[in-house]
Amino acid sequence: MTVERTLCIIKPDAVEKKRAGAILQMLEVAGFDVVACERMPLSRKVAEGFYAVHKARPFFGELVEFMTRSPVFVVVLEREDAVAKYRELMGATDPAKATEGTIRKAHGGNVGENAVHGSDSAENARVEIGYFFPASKVAPVAG
Ligand code: GDP
Repeated sequence: MTVERTLCIIKPDAVEKKRAGAILQMLEVAGFDVVACERMPLSRKVAEGFYAVHKARPFFGELVEFMTRSPVFVVVLEREDAVAKYRELMGATDPAKATEGTIRKAHGGNVGENAVHGSDSAENARVEIGYFFPASKVAPVAG
């Protein structure tokens, strides 16, 4: 199993509810290293670019409104098999359908306002990390 990175966004609903710390703790307890973490407001342009793959979906407008409503935490996570392990810990898109012990079960509100984002493949993780962080900020530690 190789050490991988993935991108987590703690979404506006969770930040507004002061759940960012609790979510980071769940991630650390589950063995993820927090490689980078930055609180930032997403502009409409940045949110639309990030979710461009969902442009044709009926909820796209709602999603962009939500993600730009208030600041998010953008987080780079690292551990073995990070993409799959984080998808597992994140839980189903709809928190009502998420398994007990998952982040979305504990902190999500509904299918739109579901506390966290997670990359769905190693390739998308690379693209998404690069969307928010210059390589110099997430360079592997030498040695
Ligand atoms: P994810 O990989 O589990 O985040 O799910 P998707 O890639 O399918 O959807 C991306 C994001 O769009 C979700 O995390 C939700 O925030 C949002 N979303 C998905 N389905 C719906 C929906 O039916 N209504 C609304 N308002 N938002 C949705």
